[in-house]
Amino acid sequence: LQLGAIKNEKMEIVSHLAASISHEVRNPLTSVKGFLQLILEHRDIPDNCQQYASLALDETVRAADIINDYLTFAKPHPEVLVTLDIEKEILKCKEIIGPLALKNSVNMNMVFFHTTKIQGDPNKFRQVLLNICKNAIEAMPKGGTLSIVTTTNDNKTVVHIADTGQGMSPEHVARLGEPYFSLKEQKGTGLGMMVVFRIVEGMGGSVKVSSEEQFGTSIILSFPTAG
Ligand code: ADP
Ligand code: MG
Repeated sequence: LQLGAIKNEKMEIVSHLAASISHEVRNPLTSVKGFLQLILEHRDIPDNCQQYASLALDETVRAADIINDYLTFAKPHPEVLVTLDIEKEILKCKEIIGPLALKNSVNMNMVFFHTTKIQGDPNKFRQVLLNICKNAIEAMPKGGTLSIVTTTNDNKTVVHIADTGQGMSPEHVARLGEPYFSLKEQKGTGLGMMVVFRIVEGMGGSVKVSSEEQFGTSIILSFPTAG
């Protein structure tokens, strides 16, 4: 029992540290990226320097992707457990992801059959929605529809997130959430879904995935309804 408590405390320290680091690292990373872009705008720099700057820029993008999949909303303070209004949280997610959807010709469609409340840390729940929606949009390079529907079922609150994208084979569905599993090569981190599974399980919820190649994917999140 005591060992368990020590382990929990260690986990707490590690996640607190990770959140603080991401918070502090994001700003300098953004300025490095900005200066590299400025260097690349100069046409009179030697070709090889142009190449080095371009590689360095790719690497800063990659570092930012890792932070984003892991810790977009992590704040350097301990976890807070509050009652979340599911509809409000989804609308906030729409605001954040909206510009990316627009850029990719993805239509966002929301239906709230029931507005219920669940228990959780708002920052972590936002990370879950964001990581799933980002994958959905990335799976529709030629545009499509991302729909989010909420319902209730007994004492569960269910959030159904579906896309009309490229879908996945059953083998790939089975590997979803495995750390570093990504089919996006340099563009993916393979951390997004691992974070989703971990947070949802921590909230006492579950994740179900069904997908059909060429037709799309749907992710069903189910949480205990609060109150
Ligand atoms: P990343 O997005 O960085 O690759 P994720 O853990 O978020 O990592 O996703 C892992 C892989 O699962 C993706 O590379 C992609 O191949 C697949 N995937 C996830 N969501 C979807 C989706 N909605 N449609 C199709 N494939 C998906
Ligand atoms: Mg992802």
